[in-house]
Amino acid sequence: ANILLTGATGFVGNHILRRLIETSFSVKAAVRSDSKAKFLTSFFQSYVDSGKLTFVNVPDITAPGAFDEAVKGVDGVIHGASPLESNDPQADPQELVQPAVHGTVGILDSALKNGSGIKRIVITSSIVTLYEPHEPGHIYSDADWFNTGPKLIAQHGRNTPSFVKYMASKVLAEQAAWKWVEDNKPSFQVVTTMPSWVFGKSETLSPEHFRKESSNNTLLRGLVGVKSGELQEKDYLTITNFTDVVDVAEGHLKALTVPEAAGRRLLLLGASVSWQDVFDILNANPVPGVTVPVGTPGNGKNAVPTHIFDHETPAKVLGLTYRPAEQTIRETLLQAVELGWKQ
Ligand code: NDP
Repeated sequence: ANILLTGATGFVGNHILRRLIETSFSVKAAVRSDSKAKFLTSFFQSYVDSGKLTFVNVPDITAPGAFDEAVKGVDGVIHGASPLESNDPQADPQELVQPAVHGTVGILDSALKNGSGIKRIVITSSIVTLYEPHEPGHIYSDADWFNTGPKLIAQHGRNTPSFVKYMASKVLAEQAAWKWVEDNKPSFQVVTTMPSWVFGKSETLSPEHFRKESSNNTLLRGLVGVKSGELQEKDYLTITNFTDVVDVAEGHLKALTVPEAAGRRLLLLGASVSWQDVFDILNANPVPGVTVPVGTPGNGKNAVPTHIFDHETPAKVLGLTYRPAEQTIRETLLQAVELGWKQ
């Protein structure tokens, strides 16, 4: 089967691409420019040579009919392209909202129009779409929506905190997708995945790209924060809900193929670790080049989660098992240091 994949050039998309190709799929990767195709080709040359990986140019995902050509001849779609948090704290939230929403609705429109072979479309949403504030003890599930996010950007515009702009863009994009399904009743199925923070190894193994990409790797960002003093002792019991990027890719493959996944919002959440847990893991078995505080070893068990999630149900639906936190943390850092990443 041939799958149209967007976002293939990104941290998560690289892994989805590899997982699809190494299973039985061929992939048509939608890229913004020839140079992006060249970049991916340099890591996946043999698959380009064998014809398992092809490219289609979609220079602007917000343009009407942007995916009209791209959807032709494919059997399924994974739509992962979406902008991440901007570095400019004063950025217009619409810089995120427009590509997130119009990219999503646009690919659905094109699929309806020209994608007669499409059986399923998987859209990468995020755990952040669930984060509506609730009473302590609330168990977050696919029934939750962070509806406050869109209200905040409507109210505060450019002055909304950067991360809330991103969260709102993901809420609006996913809600637009489900509304589209309700309005259009397509013959293909739609599934959304909601990954938590993604840790893990880079697929695009060059120091230059790794440095750029590491800004999207929550683990590395956190450890830079330790060094710079941004992450302080009072934060050591803060919990990060994370998923290994390899498991995120597997989750997408399953979301594409498992019959029971159809029509669902599926949380991908591998493990919840406090920074103290991360330090304990690294102090017990250090990675050269990475220095972490000792803190209070063992105290991680006292960390109180800010959110409790039902992640067993989606894992069961998908038949997904997650890699142990220790493995993810060590692998990520070993590779990062090898590639010249500096804490
Ligand atoms: P990256 O920034 O590494 O990748 C983003 C991808 O989206 C790239 O392929 C990029 O293409 C593409 N993209 C971004 N903006 C646009 C745009 N305006 N038009 C077209 N393409 C665009 O991010 P991740 O791999 O981390 O994220 C991938 C997906 O996973 C996103 O949907 C994100 O919201 C979601 N996600 C990520 C999490 C994380 O912790 N990283 C957690 C939960 C969800 P290009 O190379 O051309 O810039």
